This record gives sequence, C-alpha cells and structure tokens, in this order.
Amino acid sequence: MTEPLLSEAAKTTPPVSPSHEALMFPTLTAAHIAQIAAHGRARPLAPGEVLIEAGDRVVPFFVITAGSVEIVRPSPVGEMLVAVHGPGKFTGEANMLLGRRSLTRARVADAGEAIELTRDELLKLVQTDTAISEIVMRAFIYRRLELVAHGIGDVALIGSRYSPATLRIKEFLTRNGHPFAYIDLDRDSDVQDLLDRFQVATSDIPVLICCGQGVLRDPSNQQIADTLGFNQNIDQTHVRDLVVVGAGPAGLAAAVYAASEGLDVLVIESNSPGGQAGSSSRIENYLGFPTGISGQDLAGRAYVQAEKFGAEILIARDATSLTCDRKPYSLETGESGRVPARAVIIATGARYRKPALDNLAQFEGAGVYYNATFMEAQLCTGDDVIVVGGGNSAGQAAVFLAEVASRVHMLVRSSGLADSMSRYLIRRIEETPKIQLRCSTEIVALEGNGRLERVRWRDNRTGEVSSRVLRHVFLMTGAVPSTTWLGGCVALDAKGFIKTGPDLTSDDLAAARWPLPRAPYLLETSLPGVFAVGDVRCGNVKRVASAVGEGSIAISFVHRVLAE
Ligand SMILES: Cc1cc2nc3c(=O)[nH]c(=O)nc-3n(C[C@H](O)[C@H](O)[C@H](O)COP(=O)(O)OP(=O)(O)OC[C@H]3O[C@@H](n4cnc5c(N)ncnc54)[C@H](O)[C@@H]3O)c2cc1C
Repeated sequence: MTEPLLSEAAKTTPPVSPSHEALMFPTLTAAHIAQIAAHGRARPLAPGEVLIEAGDRVVPFFVITAGSVEIVRPSPVGEMLVAVHGPGKFTGEANMLLGRRSLTRARVADAGEAIELTRDELLKLVQTDTAISEIVMRAFIYRRLELVAHGIGDVALIGSRYSPATLRIKEFLTRNGHPFAYIDLDRDSDVQDLLDRFQVATSDIPVLICCGQGVLRDPSNQQIADTLGFNQNIDQTHVRDLVVVGAGPAGLAAAVYAASEGLDVLVIESNSPGGQAGSSSRIENYLGFPTGISGQDLAGRAYVQAEKFGAEILIARDATSLTCDRKPYSLETGESGRVPARAVIIATGARYRKPALDNLAQFEGAGVYYNATFMEAQLCTGDDVIVVGGGNSAGQAAVFLAEVASRVHMLVRSSGLADSMSRYLIRRIEETPKIQLRCSTEIVALEGNGRLERVRWRDNRTGEVSSRVLRHVFLMTGAVPSTTWLGGCVALDAKGFIKTGPDLTSDDLAAARWPLPRAPYLLETSLPGVFAVGDVRCGNVKRVASAVGEGSIAISFVHRVLAE
C-alpha cells in the first residue's frame, strides 16, 4: 500500500488526487518485476534497516516484492512520512537519475524482500527497456513535482520579496527542480528567532539553510550548486566526444541526441537548464503540446531525458574560454578546470536587451513580448499596443501590428529613426496613421495584477509622464548573443552572432585559416568540429522548435567529424 505525503504534510498540504497518486506510485506487474530482476539481484529486507539515507550520494533502486519500505524526510524536529511502498512499488525520484544526493530516507517497515539495482544498472535498464523506462521516468518526474509543490526538500531559503538576490536564488532552485521551503522575512515575524539560532544577522539575507546544518549567506549560484551536490561525480578531466556549451533548448536537444547515440557528452551551463525558454510561462507553439507547456516543465523533462541517456550536465559553471589552437579543444570553466573535447557545440543563446524596470519579469508572456508574430498579434486585436525600439525589427513589428491593433505607440529613446532604421520602413511608418511615433520617450513603469494593465512613459524632452491603460508591450530592442567568451576563435557577424555553414564566406574561411579540403558542414563554424546552434547562430529564427531542431541536426555532423 502507498500513502503519500502523510502526517505533518497532510496537515498543511492538499491531499494528492487519486490520478496523481497512480502516476507517482504505479504498481509494477509481475512481468515488469521479472524484467527488472534480470538486471539486479534479490535481497532480504530486515525491519528497521535503512536502505537509503538522506544525503547519500549515489543511491540504489529497490523494487519491493514482499514487506514494505517507508520513505521519510528527516528534519531536526523529527521525521515526516512521505510514502509507504508495498509489493510492486519502487523507490527513487529524479535525484537518483540526476546523480544527486537523496532527499529522503528509505527504511524497511515490514520484513520482506526486494530487488536491488545500482544506479548504473537502472540507467542501463531505462535506456534499453521502453515500457519500464516510461513507468519509472513518469513516476520520478511526478514525485519530484510533488516534492517541489510542497517544498519538501533539504533546504530552506530565508529571504525578502524585495531582494533581487532572493529572487535569483528562488529562480535558481526552481529552475533546477530542487525543492525548498521559503520563509519571507517581511511576512514571518518569528523568523528572527530562527536566524538567531544560526547566528545570522538580518543583513546577511538571503540565507540558505542546507540539510538543517550548513548556512550559506547570500550565496552565489555556484556555491549553491556545490553545496547541494549538483555537479558531484562529474569528471572534467577526460577527453569527451562532445562538449555542449549552454543548456537551453538547443543545447539540451544536442545532449539528448548525442548521448542517445552513444557519444560521451558533457554540457556546461552557467545558470540552470532551460535558457530563455525556461523563463516562458507557456510555450504554445511547440509541436506536440496543444495546450502549451511551461518553459520550465519542458526544460525539466529534457534535463532528465539527457541524464537518462548518460549525458552529464555541469550546473552554474561558465565556459569562460575555448582553447582552439590545438586538438583536442578545451573549454575553461573557471576554478573548476578545463574540459577537453573532440567536438564542441556552442549553444549559448542570446539575451534580449531589457529596459531597467523592476517588475518586468512578472509581465513577460503576460503583456510583455519579445516577438511580434501572428500568435502575439492575435492577442492584441483591436487594442492599443506599444512597440519599443528604433531598429528594423521594431519597425517591422509596428507595421505588422498596425494591421490588427487599434493604435501602435512606437517608443524610441533617440530623437529619430533615421540613424537606426531602413528608409522604406520609416516611410511605411509615416504612411500608417495608426502608428504614433514618440521619439525621446521611454517606459518608466509597468503596472498590473497578474497581467499587464497600465503603462507609464516619459517624454525625456519635457519630462512629462503619461499613464495609459495598455495591455501589450513589444520590446524590440534587439538580442545580444553570448559570444564574447569565445575570444575570436570563430567567425562572427557584425552583431556578434556566430557564422556557420553556408553563411561563411571564402574571406571568412581564409581569415580563419580553414584547414580542410571540404567546406564547413551545415551549422559548423569556421573552426572544424566546432558547431553553433540556436539563438547564438547568425540567421537563427528565435524559436524553441528551431533551437531544438538545430541541436539535434548538429549531432549527425558531429558523428562525421569524429569519424574524420
Ligand atoms: C520570455 C520568453 C518567451 C519566449 N516564448 C517563446 C515561445 O512561446 N515559443 C518559441 O518558439 N520561442 C519562445 N521564445 C524564444 C526561445 O525561448 C528561444 O528562441 C530559445 O530559448 C533559444 O534556445 P537556445 O538554446 O538557442 O538559447 P537560450 O535559450 O538562450 O539558452 C542558452 C543557454 O546558454 C547558457 N550560457 C550562455 N553563455 C554561457 C557560457 N559562457 N557558459 C555556459 N553556459 C552559457 C545560458 O545560461 C542559457 O541557459 C521565448 C523567449 C523568451 C525570452
């Protein structure tokens, strides 16, 4: 029998619905158990025996065939019962596949028997047996979601909703799928007692209390990753077939395809898996998700999928340089060292230029957009919209949106468009009465509850601030590619995006001293065996689907390079 989230949790959290419970705690059939048994070994279960201790690094996988095992979360004030696994049930959650420390303790309640598999044996099984892989992966992902939803983890964050560092840490933990409890200093007056207990001054916040012992004061993402063991057991010294830089949709797709096709692949990610897509509340145009999927959900699934196939992902580590004058190439990752690679995929994406507005993130996808396509246009039919920017992309967006919007306010910081926009677009704007050009003007505030409702802008010539009811703002101020770290190793276009394949001219190749008789492959840069995919690539189309497509296509060329 399985009774999830009992005792303390049951008092404070809503019960798990029956359908959810079946997904989290499926019962394996006799046939499935026999298949799993062929990969592991049977062992007795003695009452009270601890099979997995919270904090254990590499944990085994157990299928209970007789008796029962209880899953508890230890804490300084006692244990919280999370689940009881009876015959046909199995232990584990996403951390087991990710190679991270266990968040819970598994202890035998009733004597019996289990089948035990090491983590490597389980990985091999899920890579080869689709039916079992589906059941186990789904259960692990749903168990993780449940832990995250109820903040059942091994860390507590104490912070303030007015502190950007608190927001950064919350985002980092959330986007890495690590459950945490959050205590807000501004809401919980008793929290000072807790801080005193750990000798923490209020000026030290945000603080992260880890496993009830260690206390990190305003930690960097890297410190958090190290303390929580996100990168443990990842060997950075041996030569990899492929190193992927960036774990946005493009990098994660490359990792999944490379690892599933037998390549030894390491991904280096400076923050959390998901990239820009990870900050999208709902991606509605990605194939196969008719009702949409949040960027974080998509990234979380891709992350587990990559790990399932054996890819390793270094979290909160910047690739700071590429050594490109000798092979194997190597990637510098700050203090943690240098990773050698026979082939490299650069998937470092781009960052949209954003105005300095405190609550901007709150309205992204809920009134603030970075694209003006048919999809966004449908959202603002008949409404007033703002387009920010004075370049061609802003001009195109304004003209396009004028077809559906009642009025387009075009806000430009400079005094005119002549220096930044093509003449034909300037003429189109002038000839479109619905577009109202406001030069020397910028947004100073966004307001709304859950979605954008009102915008304030300032005319910098007069200082006058206007306030309008307005539900759609298009920020078309350009994207900056993350390529400065490459230090001139590969050819870039005038805006710093990486040139690949047919975009490389003979002059580019001559300047780069391209050494091979063949031309660069599609997506290959001016450096043989180094590829660029997704938003970092010159000519990219700024879509999740195209980033994923490019990441997967690149792998077929990586195979060719490795065979050369
Ligand atoms: C708010 C928002 C909503 C969006 N909504 C949609 C949508 O609905 N549909 C759609 O199709 N597209 C959408 N997009 C666009 C889409 O998210 C991007 O096109 C896509 O994420 C590009 O993927 P990428 O992997 O190429 O780059 P990115 O997503 O930018 O990922 C790059 C990754 O590389 C990492 N990185 C950068 N430099 C380094 C370094 N030196 N070392 C290690 N790691 C590094 C970054 O931390 C990041 O995780 C949206 C974008 C945003 C910002």
